[in-house]
Amino acid sequence: MSEFDQYNTNQIVEDDKNHFLHPWQYFDSFKEEGALPIAKAEGAYIYDTDGNKMLDAIGGMWCTNIGLGREDMVEAIADQVRQMAYANPMVDMTNIPAGQLAKKLAELAPGDLNHVFLSCGGSTAVDTAFRLIHFYQNCRGLHDKKHIIARKEAYHGSTYAAMSIGGKKADHVKEFDYITDTIHHISTPYYYRAPEGLSEEEYTDTLIKEFEDKIEELGGAGKVAAFFAEPIMGSGGVIVPPKGYIQRMWETCKANDILYVSDEVVTAFGRVGHWFASEDVFAIQPDIITSAKGLTSGYQPLGATIFSDGIWDVIAASGKGRYFAHGFTYSGHPVACRAALKNIEIIEDEKILEHVREVGPYFQQELEKLVDLPIVGEVRGKNFMICIENVANKQTKELFAEELDIGRWITDEAAKRGVLVRPIGHLNVLSPPIILTKEQVDHIVSTLRESIEAVMLDLE
Ligand code: PLP
Repeated sequence: MSEFDQYNTNQIVEDDKNHFLHPWQYFDSFKEEGALPIAKAEGAYIYDTDGNKMLDAIGGMWCTNIGLGREDMVEAIADQVRQMAYANPMVDMTNIPAGQLAKKLAELAPGDLNHVFLSCGGSTAVDTAFRLIHFYQNCRGLHDKKHIIARKEAYHGSTYAAMSIGGKKADHVKEFDYITDTIHHISTPYYYRAPEGLSEEEYTDTLIKEFEDKIEELGGAGKVAAFFAEPIMGSGGVIVPPKGYIQRMWETCKANDILYVSDEVVTAFGRVGHWFASEDVFAIQPDIITSAKGLTSGYQPLGATIFSDGIWDVIAASGKGRYFAHGFTYSGHPVACRAALKNIEIIEDEKILEHVREVGPYFQQELEKLVDLPIVGEVRGKNFMICIENVANKQTKELFAEELDIGRWITDEAAKRGVLVRPIGHLNVLSPPIILTKEQVDHIVSTLRESIEAVMLDLE
Protein backbone atom coordinates (compact mmCIF):
# COMPACT_ATOMS: atom_id res chain seq x y z
CA MET A 1 0.00 0.00 0.00
CA SER A 2 1.54 3.30 -1.05
CA GLU A 3 1.01 6.61 0.71
CA PHE A 4 -0.46 7.85 -2.59
CA ASP A 5 -3.26 5.27 -2.68
CA GLN A 6 -5.40 7.58 -0.55
CA TYR A 7 -5.76 10.00 -3.48
CA ASN A 8 -8.43 9.81 -6.14
CA THR A 9 -6.58 11.80 -8.79
CA ASN A 10 -9.51 12.11 -11.21
CA GLN A 11 -11.77 13.46 -8.47
CA ILE A 12 -9.12 15.93 -7.27
CA VAL A 13 -8.63 17.24 -10.83
CA GLU A 14 -12.39 17.49 -11.41
CA ASP A 15 -13.07 19.37 -8.14
CA ASP A 16 -10.18 21.71 -8.87
CA LYS A 17 -11.39 22.36 -12.43
CA ASN A 18 -14.88 23.16 -11.22
CA HIS A 19 -14.04 25.47 -8.34
CA PHE A 20 -10.45 26.81 -8.24
CA LEU A 21 -9.81 29.80 -10.49
CA HIS A 22 -6.05 29.57 -10.97
CA PRO A 23 -3.65 32.43 -11.55
CA TRP A 24 -3.19 32.85 -15.34
CA GLN A 25 -5.91 30.32 -16.11
CA TYR A 26 -6.67 29.94 -19.82
CA PHE A 27 -10.39 29.20 -19.65
CA ASP A 28 -10.67 27.08 -22.79
CA SER A 29 -7.67 24.74 -22.49
CA PHE A 30 -7.97 24.41 -18.70
CA LYS A 31 -11.49 23.03 -19.06
CA GLU A 32 -10.00 20.18 -21.08
CA GLU A 33 -6.63 19.65 -19.43
CA GLY A 34 -7.02 20.61 -15.76
CA ALA A 35 -3.96 20.87 -13.51
CA LEU A 36 -1.39 18.36 -12.30
CA PRO A 37 -2.18 17.70 -8.62
CA ILE A 38 0.93 17.72 -6.44
CA ALA A 39 0.72 15.90 -3.11
CA LYS A 40 4.17 15.95 -1.57
CA ALA A 41 7.58 17.61 -1.72
CA GLU A 42 11.02 16.70 -0.47
CA GLY A 43 14.10 18.84 -1.10
CA ALA A 44 14.13 19.61 -4.84
CA TYR A 45 11.61 16.86 -5.67
CA ILE A 46 7.83 16.92 -5.88
CA TYR A 47 5.39 14.02 -6.17
CA ASP A 48 2.02 14.05 -7.90
CA THR A 49 -1.02 12.31 -6.40
CA ASP A 50 -0.15 9.13 -8.32
CA GLY A 51 3.30 9.08 -6.70
CA ASN A 52 5.29 10.16 -9.76
CA LYS A 53 8.51 11.85 -8.64
CA MET A 54 9.80 14.93 -10.49
CA LEU A 55 12.81 17.18 -10.05
CA ASP A 56 11.32 20.65 -9.70
CA ALA A 57 13.74 22.85 -11.64
CA ILE A 58 11.21 25.69 -11.38
CA GLY A 59 11.57 25.82 -7.60
CA GLY A 60 7.80 26.13 -7.08
CA MET A 61 7.48 29.65 -8.50
CA TRP A 62 11.16 30.72 -8.13
CA CYS A 63 10.68 30.40 -4.39
CA THR A 64 11.51 27.05 -2.76
CA ASN A 65 15.10 28.15 -2.20
CA ILE A 66 16.22 25.88 0.67
CA GLY A 67 14.10 22.99 -0.63
CA LEU A 68 10.80 21.73 0.76
CA GLY A 69 9.94 19.27 3.51
CA ARG A 70 12.62 20.30 6.03
CA GLU A 71 11.85 19.11 9.56
CA ASP A 72 13.58 22.11 11.14
CA MET A 73 11.22 24.43 9.24
CA VAL A 74 8.26 22.27 10.28
CA GLU A 75 9.38 22.50 13.91
CA ALA A 76 9.81 26.28 13.89
CA ILE A 77 6.44 26.83 12.21
CA ALA A 78 4.63 24.34 14.47
CA ASP A 79 6.23 25.85 17.56
CA GLN A 80 5.05 29.32 16.55
CA VAL A 81 1.53 28.08 15.81
CA ARG A 82 1.43 26.45 19.23
CA GLN A 83 2.74 29.57 20.94
CA MET A 84 0.67 32.11 19.03
CA ALA A 85 -0.59 31.66 15.47
CA TYR A 86 -1.73 35.23 15.01
CA ALA A 87 -1.18 38.66 16.49
CA ASN A 88 -2.73 42.02 15.69
CA PRO A 89 -0.04 44.03 13.87
CA MET A 90 -1.60 47.46 14.27
CA VAL A 91 0.47 50.09 15.96
CA ASP A 92 -0.45 49.31 19.54
CA MET A 93 0.84 45.72 19.46
CA THR A 94 3.71 43.70 18.10
CA ASN A 95 4.91 40.13 18.12
CA ILE A 96 8.40 38.81 18.70
CA PRO A 97 9.16 37.23 15.27
CA ALA A 98 7.99 40.35 13.37
CA GLY A 99 10.28 42.69 15.29
CA GLN A 100 13.19 40.27 15.09
CA LEU A 101 12.72 39.76 11.37
CA ALA A 102 12.56 43.49 10.64
CA LYS A 103 15.83 43.95 12.55
CA LYS A 104 17.47 41.05 10.71
CA LEU A 105 16.38 42.38 7.30
CA ALA A 106 17.77 45.81 8.18
CA GLU A 107 21.10 44.12 8.97
CA LEU A 108 21.17 42.11 5.74
CA ALA A 109 19.94 44.84 3.38
CA PRO A 110 22.48 47.20 1.82
CA GLY A 111 23.51 50.53 3.34
CA ASP A 112 20.91 52.52 5.21
CA LEU A 113 17.90 50.38 4.27
CA ASN A 114 16.92 50.08 7.92
CA HIS A 115 13.12 50.12 7.85
CA VAL A 116 10.77 47.32 6.90
CA PHE A 117 7.08 47.02 6.10
CA LEU A 118 5.83 43.42 6.13
CA SER A 119 3.03 42.19 3.90
CA CYS A 120 1.75 38.96 2.38
CA GLY A 121 3.87 38.47 -0.76
CA GLY A 122 5.68 40.15 -3.63
CA SER A 123 2.69 41.97 -5.09
CA THR A 124 1.77 43.57 -1.78
CA ALA A 125 5.44 44.45 -1.19
CA VAL A 126 5.46 46.28 -4.55
CA ASP A 127 2.06 47.86 -3.93
CA THR A 128 3.35 49.05 -0.55
CA ALA A 129 6.42 50.58 -2.24
CA PHE A 130 4.10 52.38 -4.69
CA ARG A 131 1.99 53.84 -1.87
CA LEU A 132 5.04 54.63 0.27
CA ILE A 133 6.42 56.65 -2.64
CA HIS A 134 3.23 58.73 -2.85
CA PHE A 135 3.25 59.21 0.93
CA TYR A 136 6.91 60.29 0.88
CA GLN A 137 6.53 62.79 -1.96
CA ASN A 138 3.39 64.26 -0.39
CA CYS A 139 5.17 64.59 2.97
CA ARG A 140 7.84 66.61 1.13
CA GLY A 141 5.15 68.82 -0.35
CA LEU A 142 6.08 67.58 -3.84
CA HIS A 143 2.53 66.79 -4.90
CA ASP A 144 3.33 66.79 -8.63
CA LYS A 145 6.21 64.35 -8.32
CA LYS A 146 4.12 61.24 -8.96
CA HIS A 147 5.08 59.65 -12.28
CA ILE A 148 6.56 56.15 -12.18
CA ILE A 149 8.91 54.82 -14.83
CA ALA A 150 9.33 51.05 -15.24
CA ARG A 151 10.29 48.71 -18.08
CA LYS A 152 8.45 46.83 -20.79
CA GLU A 153 8.36 43.08 -20.08
CA ALA A 154 9.00 43.64 -16.36
CA TYR A 155 6.86 41.70 -13.89
CA HIS A 156 6.10 43.26 -10.50
CA GLY A 157 3.01 41.39 -9.31
CA SER A 158 -0.75 41.29 -9.63
CA THR A 159 -2.39 44.00 -7.55
CA TYR A 160 -3.84 46.82 -9.67
CA ALA A 161 -0.76 49.00 -9.12
CA ALA A 162 1.81 46.20 -9.36
CA MET A 163 0.37 44.87 -12.61
CA SER A 164 0.31 48.39 -14.02
CA ILE A 165 3.98 48.91 -13.07
CA GLY A 166 4.75 45.61 -14.78
CA GLY A 167 5.16 45.94 -18.51
CA LYS A 168 4.62 42.41 -19.82
CA LYS A 169 2.66 42.73 -23.01
CA ALA A 170 1.18 39.26 -22.64
CA ASP A 171 -0.14 40.11 -19.14
CA HIS A 172 -1.78 43.39 -20.10
CA VAL A 173 -4.87 41.67 -21.47
CA LYS A 174 -7.67 43.86 -22.76
CA GLU A 175 -10.25 42.52 -20.31
CA PHE A 176 -8.39 44.10 -17.34
CA ASP A 177 -7.75 47.80 -16.69
CA TYR A 178 -4.41 49.41 -15.78
CA ILE A 179 -3.10 52.69 -14.39
CA THR A 180 -1.81 54.46 -17.48
CA ASP A 181 -1.74 58.16 -16.61
CA THR A 182 1.13 58.04 -14.10
CA ILE A 183 2.91 54.76 -14.96
CA HIS A 184 5.19 54.62 -18.02
CA HIS A 185 7.40 51.98 -19.60
CA ILE A 186 10.77 52.23 -21.30
CA SER A 187 12.72 49.54 -23.18
CA THR A 188 13.68 46.13 -21.85
CA PRO A 189 17.49 46.01 -21.55
CA TYR A 190 17.63 42.94 -23.79
CA TYR A 191 21.06 42.77 -25.41
CA TYR A 192 20.37 39.52 -27.31
CA ARG A 193 17.71 41.38 -29.30
CA ALA A 194 19.39 44.80 -29.35
CA PRO A 195 19.84 46.56 -32.71
CA GLU A 196 22.61 44.92 -34.74
CA GLY A 197 26.14 46.23 -34.44
CA LEU A 198 25.94 47.91 -31.02
CA SER A 199 28.48 46.98 -28.34
CA GLU A 200 27.01 46.40 -24.86
CA GLU A 201 28.29 49.81 -23.76
CA GLU A 202 26.78 51.55 -26.79
CA TYR A 203 23.49 49.75 -26.19
CA THR A 204 23.53 50.89 -22.55
CA ASP A 205 24.11 54.48 -23.79
CA THR A 206 20.90 54.27 -25.86
CA LEU A 207 18.92 52.94 -22.86
CA ILE A 208 20.16 55.68 -20.53
CA LYS A 209 19.32 58.29 -23.17
CA GLU A 210 15.82 56.84 -23.48
CA PHE A 211 15.38 57.11 -19.68
CA GLU A 212 16.58 60.73 -19.66
CA ASP A 213 14.29 61.57 -22.57
CA LYS A 214 11.32 59.97 -20.80
CA ILE A 215 12.00 62.09 -17.68
CA GLU A 216 12.03 65.21 -19.88
CA GLU A 217 8.89 64.14 -21.72
CA LEU A 218 7.04 63.77 -18.40
CA GLY A 219 7.90 67.34 -17.43
CA GLY A 220 11.32 66.88 -15.84
CA ALA A 221 12.60 65.47 -12.56
CA GLY A 222 10.04 67.47 -10.59
CA LYS A 223 7.34 65.22 -11.99
CA VAL A 224 8.99 61.80 -11.69
CA ALA A 225 8.77 60.03 -8.33
CA ALA A 226 10.42 56.67 -8.86
CA PHE A 227 11.94 54.09 -11.14
CA PHE A 228 11.12 50.38 -10.61
CA ALA A 229 13.43 47.61 -11.84
CA GLU A 230 14.26 43.98 -11.16
CA PRO A 231 18.08 43.65 -11.08
CA ILE A 232 17.73 40.67 -13.44
CA MET A 233 14.26 40.52 -14.98
CA GLY A 234 12.59 37.23 -14.05
CA SER A 235 9.38 36.29 -15.79
CA GLY A 236 10.19 38.77 -18.58
CA GLY A 237 12.73 36.14 -19.69
CA VAL A 238 15.67 36.26 -17.25
CA ILE A 239 17.05 39.40 -18.86
CA VAL A 240 20.55 40.13 -17.55
CA PRO A 241 21.08 43.84 -18.23
CA PRO A 242 23.99 45.00 -20.39
CA LYS A 243 27.22 46.22 -18.78
CA GLY A 244 26.84 49.40 -16.76
CA TYR A 245 23.05 49.60 -17.18
CA ILE A 246 21.93 49.17 -13.54
CA GLN A 247 24.69 51.43 -12.18
CA ARG A 248 23.98 54.19 -14.68
CA MET A 249 20.18 54.01 -14.26
CA TRP A 250 20.73 54.34 -10.50
CA GLU A 251 23.11 57.29 -10.98
CA THR A 252 20.55 58.95 -13.26
CA CYS A 253 17.92 58.47 -10.54
CA LYS A 254 20.19 59.96 -7.89
CA ALA A 255 21.04 62.94 -10.08
CA ASN A 256 17.32 63.60 -10.60
CA ASP A 257 16.00 62.95 -7.06
CA ILE A 258 14.09 59.93 -8.38
CA LEU A 259 13.67 57.00 -5.97
CA TYR A 260 15.22 53.76 -7.18
CA VAL A 261 13.09 50.71 -6.33
CA SER A 262 14.89 47.42 -6.77
CA ASP A 263 12.36 44.58 -7.04
CA GLU A 264 14.25 41.64 -5.58
CA VAL A 265 11.29 39.33 -5.14
CA VAL A 266 13.17 36.72 -7.17
CA THR A 267 16.85 37.73 -6.94
CA ALA A 268 17.17 38.01 -3.14
CA PHE A 269 17.83 35.30 -0.55
CA GLY A 270 20.40 33.36 -2.47
CA ARG A 271 19.05 32.78 -5.95
CA VAL A 272 22.02 34.59 -7.49
CA GLY A 273 24.41 33.87 -4.60
CA HIS A 274 23.78 36.81 -2.24
CA TRP A 275 21.21 38.09 0.23
CA PHE A 276 20.44 40.86 -2.27
CA ALA A 277 21.68 41.34 -5.83
CA SER A 278 21.44 45.14 -5.85
CA GLU A 279 24.58 45.77 -3.86
CA ASP A 280 26.54 42.53 -4.20
CA VAL A 281 26.08 41.99 -7.93
CA PHE A 282 25.37 45.48 -9.27
CA ALA A 283 27.01 47.72 -6.66
CA ILE A 284 24.05 50.02 -6.14
CA GLN A 285 22.18 51.10 -3.05
CA PRO A 286 18.52 51.46 -3.93
CA ASP A 287 16.11 53.55 -1.88
CA ILE A 288 13.62 50.69 -1.61
CA ILE A 289 13.99 46.92 -2.01
CA THR A 290 10.94 44.69 -2.39
CA SER A 291 11.31 41.04 -1.47
CA ALA A 292 9.24 37.86 -0.96
CA LYS A 293 9.55 34.27 -2.31
CA GLY A 294 13.01 33.10 -1.06
CA LEU A 295 12.44 35.13 2.13
CA THR A 296 10.60 32.09 3.51
CA SER A 297 11.56 29.64 0.73
CA GLY A 298 7.83 29.29 0.13
CA TYR A 299 7.07 27.79 3.56
CA GLN A 300 4.82 30.75 4.39
CA PRO A 301 3.47 33.71 2.37
CA LEU A 302 5.42 36.87 3.22
CA GLY A 303 6.59 40.07 1.55
CA ALA A 304 8.95 42.80 2.73
CA THR A 305 9.35 46.40 1.58
CA ILE A 306 12.70 47.56 2.93
CA PHE A 307 13.43 51.28 2.72
CA SER A 308 16.06 53.86 3.53
CA ASP A 309 16.71 56.12 6.49
CA GLY A 310 16.27 58.96 4.00
CA ILE A 311 12.65 58.01 3.32
CA TRP A 312 12.03 57.25 6.99
CA ASP A 313 13.40 60.61 8.13
CA VAL A 314 10.95 62.41 5.85
CA ILE A 315 7.83 60.38 6.58
CA ALA A 316 8.42 60.16 10.33
CA ALA A 317 9.60 63.75 10.85
CA SER A 318 7.42 66.58 12.13
CA GLY A 319 4.41 64.45 11.47
CA LYS A 320 2.03 65.92 14.02
CA GLY A 321 -0.98 63.65 13.79
CA ARG A 322 0.41 62.06 10.61
CA TYR A 323 -0.07 58.32 10.31
CA PHE A 324 0.69 55.63 7.75
CA ALA A 325 -2.80 54.56 6.70
CA HIS A 326 -1.70 51.39 4.99
CA GLY A 327 -1.52 47.81 6.19
CA PHE A 328 -2.88 44.31 6.20
CA THR A 329 -4.44 42.03 8.80
CA TYR A 330 -1.51 39.72 8.16
CA SER A 331 1.31 42.33 8.23
CA GLY A 332 4.07 40.89 10.38
CA HIS A 333 2.26 37.57 10.69
CA PRO A 334 4.11 35.73 13.47
CA VAL A 335 4.14 32.33 11.75
CA ALA A 336 5.37 33.74 8.45
CA CYS A 337 8.01 35.85 10.20
CA ARG A 338 9.17 32.88 12.26
CA ALA A 339 9.48 30.86 9.04
CA ALA A 340 11.56 33.65 7.48
CA LEU A 341 13.84 33.83 10.52
CA LYS A 342 14.40 30.06 10.44
CA ASN A 343 14.96 30.13 6.67
CA ILE A 344 17.60 32.86 7.05
CA GLU A 345 19.24 30.95 9.91
CA ILE A 346 19.45 27.82 7.73
CA ILE A 347 20.96 29.79 4.82
CA GLU A 348 23.57 31.20 7.22
CA ASP A 349 24.35 28.00 9.17
CA GLU A 350 24.58 25.77 6.11
CA LYS A 351 26.53 28.33 4.10
CA ILE A 352 23.99 28.14 1.30
CA LEU A 353 25.09 31.43 -0.31
CA GLU A 354 28.60 29.97 -0.63
CA HIS A 355 27.07 26.79 -2.08
CA VAL A 356 25.24 28.87 -4.72
CA ARG A 357 28.44 30.69 -5.60
CA GLU A 358 30.08 27.30 -6.16
CA VAL A 359 27.37 25.19 -7.81
CA GLY A 360 25.46 28.06 -9.48
CA PRO A 361 28.24 28.85 -11.99
CA TYR A 362 28.46 25.10 -12.75
CA PHE A 363 24.69 25.00 -13.42
CA GLN A 364 25.05 28.01 -15.71
CA GLN A 365 28.14 26.68 -17.48
CA GLU A 366 26.60 23.22 -18.10
CA LEU A 367 23.34 24.70 -19.40
CA GLU A 368 25.30 27.06 -21.66
CA LYS A 369 26.61 23.96 -23.46
CA LEU A 370 23.08 23.52 -24.86
CA VAL A 371 23.77 26.37 -27.30
CA ASP A 372 25.40 23.78 -29.55
CA LEU A 373 21.85 22.59 -30.31
CA PRO A 374 20.47 24.14 -33.53
CA ILE A 375 17.37 25.63 -31.88
CA VAL A 376 18.99 27.09 -28.75
CA GLY A 377 19.72 30.75 -29.51
CA GLU A 378 20.98 31.81 -26.10
CA VAL A 379 21.34 30.53 -22.54
CA ARG A 380 21.51 33.44 -20.09
CA GLY A 381 21.13 34.25 -16.42
CA LYS A 382 23.08 34.03 -13.24
CA ASN A 383 23.61 31.03 -10.97
CA PHE A 384 20.19 29.51 -10.21
CA MET A 385 18.21 31.88 -12.41
CA ILE A 386 18.57 30.75 -16.02
CA CYS A 387 16.66 31.01 -19.28
CA ILE A 388 16.97 29.14 -22.56
CA GLU A 389 15.85 31.13 -25.59
CA ASN A 390 14.67 28.84 -28.39
CA VAL A 391 14.78 30.14 -31.96
CA ALA A 392 13.87 28.81 -35.39
CA ASN A 393 16.99 30.37 -36.91
CA LYS A 394 20.12 31.10 -34.90
CA GLN A 395 21.54 33.58 -37.42
CA THR A 396 18.44 35.74 -37.77
CA LYS A 397 17.10 34.93 -34.26
CA GLU A 398 13.74 34.36 -35.92
CA LEU A 399 11.11 32.82 -33.64
CA PHE A 400 9.13 29.63 -34.18
CA ALA A 401 5.50 30.03 -35.23
CA GLU A 402 3.47 30.84 -32.12
CA GLU A 403 1.11 27.89 -32.62
CA LEU A 404 4.05 25.46 -32.22
CA ASP A 405 4.27 26.65 -28.60
CA ILE A 406 7.90 25.57 -28.53
CA GLY A 407 8.53 26.43 -24.85
CA ARG A 408 5.54 24.34 -23.75
CA TRP A 409 6.56 21.52 -26.08
CA ILE A 410 10.05 21.27 -24.58
CA THR A 411 8.56 21.55 -21.08
CA ASP A 412 6.22 18.62 -21.81
CA GLU A 413 9.10 16.50 -23.13
CA ALA A 414 11.17 17.27 -20.01
CA ALA A 415 8.18 16.52 -17.72
CA LYS A 416 7.77 13.11 -19.38
CA ARG A 417 11.39 12.50 -18.34
CA GLY A 418 10.81 13.65 -14.74
CA VAL A 419 12.18 17.22 -14.81
CA LEU A 420 9.97 20.31 -14.49
CA VAL A 421 11.03 23.50 -16.29
CA ARG A 422 8.83 26.52 -16.97
CA PRO A 423 7.72 27.65 -20.41
CA ILE A 424 7.31 31.39 -20.98
CA GLY A 425 6.33 31.78 -24.63
CA HIS A 426 9.29 30.52 -26.68
CA LEU A 427 11.54 30.41 -23.59
CA ASN A 428 12.27 27.79 -20.95
CA VAL A 429 13.10 29.12 -17.52
CA LEU A 430 14.90 27.34 -14.68
CA SER A 431 14.95 28.54 -11.06
CA PRO A 432 15.51 25.39 -8.99
CA PRO A 433 15.95 25.18 -5.24
CA ILE A 434 19.37 26.70 -4.55
CA ILE A 435 20.56 23.63 -2.61
CA LEU A 436 20.87 21.70 -5.87
CA THR A 437 23.82 19.28 -6.07
CA LYS A 438 26.14 18.90 -9.06
CA GLU A 439 24.58 15.46 -9.73
CA GLN A 440 21.14 17.05 -9.89
CA VAL A 441 22.53 19.74 -12.20
CA ASP A 442 23.88 17.03 -14.53
CA HIS A 443 20.52 15.27 -14.48
CA ILE A 444 18.64 18.45 -15.40
CA VAL A 445 21.06 19.34 -18.19
CA SER A 446 21.10 15.88 -19.79
CA THR A 447 17.29 15.65 -19.54
CA LEU A 448 16.91 19.02 -21.21
CA ARG A 449 19.30 18.04 -23.99
CA GLU A 450 17.30 14.85 -24.63
CA SER A 451 14.03 16.79 -24.52
CA ILE A 452 15.17 19.47 -26.98
CA GLU A 453 16.58 16.78 -29.28
CA ALA A 454 13.24 14.94 -29.17
CA VAL A 455 11.44 18.13 -30.17
CA MET A 456 13.97 18.74 -32.97
CA LEU A 457 13.36 15.25 -34.33
CA ASP A 458 9.62 15.92 -34.46
CA LEU A 459 10.23 19.29 -36.11
CA GLU A 460 12.06 17.63 -39.04
N1 PLP B 1 8.01 41.01 -8.32
C1 PLP B 1 8.67 40.11 -9.03
C2 PLP B 1 9.99 40.46 -9.63
C3 PLP B 1 8.13 38.83 -9.23
O1 PLP B 1 8.76 37.92 -9.98
C4 PLP B 1 6.88 38.53 -8.62
C5 PLP B 1 6.28 37.19 -8.78
O2 PLP B 1 6.69 36.38 -9.58
C6 PLP B 1 6.23 39.51 -7.88
C7 PLP B 1 6.83 40.75 -7.73
C8 PLP B 1 4.91 39.22 -7.23
O3 PLP B 1 5.08 38.38 -6.17
P1 PLP B 1 3.84 37.52 -5.58
O4 PLP B 1 3.45 36.56 -6.65
O5 PLP B 1 4.41 36.89 -4.35
O6 PLP B 1 2.76 38.47 -5.26
